[in-house]
Amino acid sequence: MKNTDRSPPVYLASMVNITNKCNLRCRHCFVFREGNPNEPKKEMDSKTMLEKLEQLQKRHQIHTMVWMGGEPLLRPDVLREGLKLFPRNHVTTNGTIDLIELPNCIYVLSIDGPPELSDAIRGEGVFDRVLNMVARVPETFGPTVMAQCVVTKTNEDTTGTLTVIWGVAEREDHRDRAVAWYRELLEKLGASVKPVEVVASHS
Ligand code: SF4
Repeated sequence: MKNTDRSPPVYLASMVNITNKCNLRCRHCFVFREGNPNEPKKEMDSKTMLEKLEQLQKRHQIHTMVWMGGEPLLRPDVLREGLKLFPRNHVTTNGTIDLIELPNCIYVLSIDGPPELSDAIRGEGVFDRVLNMVARVPETFGPTVMAQCVVTKTNEDTTGTLTVIWGVAEREDHRDRAVAWYRELLEKLGASVKPVEVVASHS
């Protein structure tokens, strides 16, 4: 039967890469691979990008937008205005740039494992830079701040010493829940589980 419903599809969630610029050069990154448009002149200007995003939000009733890059915090003007367009937002950052207050926002910080492993992937000293940035997040900060780690064969054996920054969570029960979830995930994946050590705390 011919589909006569011409209304645009509804997308509950969507993702946008707002820049290919980044202050890091991680080993695994797809952004700097050949064929990607990395010249600044090829980047869409902020006004056009915001107009397009507003049109897309209205057209597809997008509820949640995931903001990525490159490093999205290198375009704070786009984030400040763009996040107002969506009821809910996730901003994925490498955690080396100070977070800014944004509306309806959850920050997701990428961490690869303990310092030596993380730095081998992301660059010398990057792990400490992330912890120092986290320590600067004010107590009154509005957005939720989370950390995420991709579990791979490279880091699964280091889970015992995986240094997590759950201390970002303002409440201890949030942190405990996060650690419990993480251990459960590792068990499901069959990884060797040792006690997770929390070595950094926002408080
Ligand atoms: S922080 Fe993200 S965008 Fe930047 S180099 Fe690393 S993986 Fe790529």
